[in-house]
Amino acid sequence: MNLNVNVVCPNCEGQAVHAFIGPDVQGTKCNDCSIDFFFLFATTRAKRSRGDRNANSREFNVRVYLSDGSEDLIQFVKSGWDDIELRVKDDVVFSYLGDDVRIVQNIQIGSYTSISVPSCYIATHIFGANSQEVMFLRKWRDRVLNTSSLGRLFVKLYYVLSPVLLTCLGNNKKFSQKAKQLLGCVLKGLGFK
Ligand SMILES: [Zn+2]
Repeated sequence: MNLNVNVVCPNCEGQAVHAFIGPDVQGTKCNDCSIDFFFLFATTRAKRSRGDRNANSREFNVRVYLSDGSEDLIQFVKSGWDDIELRVKDDVVFSYLGDDVRIVQNIQIGSYTSISVPSCYIATHIFGANSQEVMFLRKWRDRVLNTSSLGRLFVKLYYVLSPVLLTCLGNNKKFSQKAKQLLGCVLKGLGFK
């Protein structure tokens, strides 16, 4: 099989037609930002999602048929409560940055959703989930950190360590104040106004 698919880049969201040979994920390069990424073309068999109001996130389990007729299960978590429209038999393209699904495209309705990983535990705890500060840090993570292997390692470590740190220190006022000061400095250093 050789299929031309319009694919949205998981980094810059630029769109271009890429040939998909299948059946599994395949690597390609974005024409706009030159980043290497993976994508998968498949057909939806069933989609289940479960929202978590406290974490303001939603977990997805999408069963798909690959182009050779075999089945696969695609799982990911996105920040935000809202669901993704994917019906049975809808063709879908998943684009990955590293191991993470970052774009889900519904070919039938011609729309896509960018998957923002639920994130910045400490920043969310201190500034609130929908604050300007958290949006800024999220963008910085996606555009800067996630484009290098060292940056991605830092992000992984942060996600592993910060829930632990928060559980231990989350209700400690001194910790919150210090963390707020520190994050304030970081934000300033990154150009946040
Ligand atoms: Zn790109």
